Amino acid sequence: MKNYFFLLFFFLLKLQLFSQNEYFQQEVNYKIEVSLNDQQHELNGNITIEYKNNSPETLSFLYFHLWPNAYKDKKTAYAKQAFQMGDPNFYFSTPDAAGNISQLDFKVNGQKVNWELDKLDIDIAKIFLNQNLNPNDNIIITTPFKVKIPQNFSRLGHDGQSYQITQWYPKPAVFDKDGWHQIPYLDSGEFYSEFGNFDVKITLPANYVVGATGSLQNESEKKFLQKKMEATQLLIQNGFSDDMSFPPSSSQSKTIHYIAHQVHDFAWFADKRFHVQKAEALLANGNKVDTWAMFTNLDADIWKDASQYISKAIKFYSDHIGPYPYPQATAVESALFAGGAMEYPMITVVAAVGGDAQTLDRYITHEIGHNWFYGILASNERDHPWMDEGINSYYENRYMHHFYESPDEDVLDKYITGFLGAGAKLDYRQLAYQYQARRNLDQAPETHSMDLSSINYGVSAYMKPALSLKMLEEYVGQKTFDKAMQQYFQQWKYKHPQPADYRAVMEKSIGKKLDWFFDGFLFSNKKMDYKLKKISQGNELLLTVANKGEINAPFPVSGILDGKIVDTKWYDGFAGEQTIAFPKGNYERISIDASQVTLDLHPQNNNYKLRGALPKFEPLKL
Ligand SMILES: [Zn+2]
Repeated sequence: MKNYFFLLFFFLLKLQLFSQNEYFQQEVNYKIEVSLNDQQHELNGNITIEYKNNSPETLSFLYFHLWPNAYKDKKTAYAKQAFQMGDPNFYFSTPDAAGNISQLDFKVNGQKVNWELDKLDIDIAKIFLNQNLNPNDNIIITTPFKVKIPQNFSRLGHDGQSYQITQWYPKPAVFDKDGWHQIPYLDSGEFYSEFGNFDVKITLPANYVVGATGSLQNESEKKFLQKKMEATQLLIQNGFSDDMSFPPSSSQSKTIHYIAHQVHDFAWFADKRFHVQKAEALLANGNKVDTWAMFTNLDADIWKDASQYISKAIKFYSDHIGPYPYPQATAVESALFAGGAMEYPMITVVAAVGGDAQTLDRYITHEIGHNWFYGILASNERDHPWMDEGINSYYENRYMHHFYESPDEDVLDKYITGFLGAGAKLDYRQLAYQYQARRNLDQAPETHSMDLSSINYGVSAYMKPALSLKMLEEYVGQKTFDKAMQQYFQQWKYKHPQPADYRAVMEKSIGKKLDWFFDGFLFSNKKMDYKLKKISQGNELLLTVANKGEINAPFPVSGILDGKIVDTKWYDGFAGEQTIAFPKGNYERISIDASQVTLDLHPQNNNYKLRGALPKFEPLKL
């Protein structure tokens, strides 16, 4: 009997562990009817949410996000962060510029429920259920709501009668195997949301042009956009004006209806001044995607080709990762103060670029790319910013290298040339990483957004993971790399992958342990540094290489003649010192990482000169 109980205990324990670790995902479907008051800058709406509990847990409450409250006073997490990060605009703004959400009256299955604002974060609410929500059961949650739209300080806002309606409606927080993820709105630090369907009806004055998540349902609105496109065509021929004033709002109103499937957010942008351009992306699977660009006179001369950039980006990402599953993609030029551009499912907002067409292409492509890394592969951006920004930046770079001869010219012109001098050839991402890493000020990419310094948000969340992925691609080969990423897409689309899930797919598909990549580059700020100590000549060249760093990363060795790479061979990483063989050839120099595809911290100890007076070659020192 003793043994029997012992076994039963383990059986139950295993059952519990299993249920705790098994992947599940809640489903949240929304019906929203909302009207815009463009005199008061207010939204008035009603929301109906169907919440399906697919978890093994019984829920007695739900956490909700009420993100417009981030702009309610100067003590919110957003207000404090913006001030600390050197953006005092909201902190010193007058009360009329603030925003909030009010008139909430939550009901569950038609019955009033108790709810309260979080003590610390007034943009988080806890809704207490009158009856527990059992596994596999649904509830219907309803509430009216009113949003006072703030002046745009971050993402949600208005700039006069130009509206950026984002992070705007009451929204359940994610509940996953690690529990609830209720998170306050932040400027630096993104989001995590449940998948579902959206059915949204927007009522506003009839002369507004609207870009939104989802597919447009009204024929009359499609005709309205068609007329706008024809007018835009004429302006492309005859020239845009520089008038940025708002025409009066029509006394007539219209209701526009959108439906979106398998997305985790809904955003819309409304502006009476928008010009409209439309193109189409034809995918390899035969699907056609409508691509829309909406823009004002501000940067019309570079925006006139924007629908082509969207089409190109949709096709590029579809070909390399997995097909774009939605019927349309839109980019709008509108107000934004959280970075230069921002992604939402099927829609992207780009602020005034202040650059050329190439810069706009880069911005649009990056944000369109987030439909894959955020939209479809919906990782927790707040906790693991590298999973969306880093992986997406890798593809953005690949796109720019594919379509442009000087892919980084737009960035280099702006930031680096003044710093290094004209004609500098260093990759700006490498430069930024080295700049932080050599002073040991870099942080692991796997760091919570709130714990990343503002320079490291760029270096650790975007640049270092993008560089690491490029290195992995070079090491395993593009075909193997692409296949692994396609498997990641197939296995985790419309889900919430975590770093361990991504690692499992990549290691399995590539068929190698990738400790150096994950534990070394992504989960730590350990450094990679090999030193080429000496070369002796036999039947082959025998290289003595010492690992001076903390990561046993693979590395490429190249034979170089007349400054050009003649032959390259990759070696698996090791600790300590080893002698490796490299094929003999007509070389003037042997280099580790000659084309700078690794994150080797000290390129100056990577070279050995085979001819000439000096045995070693010293390249440009940083
Ligand atoms: Zn991004």
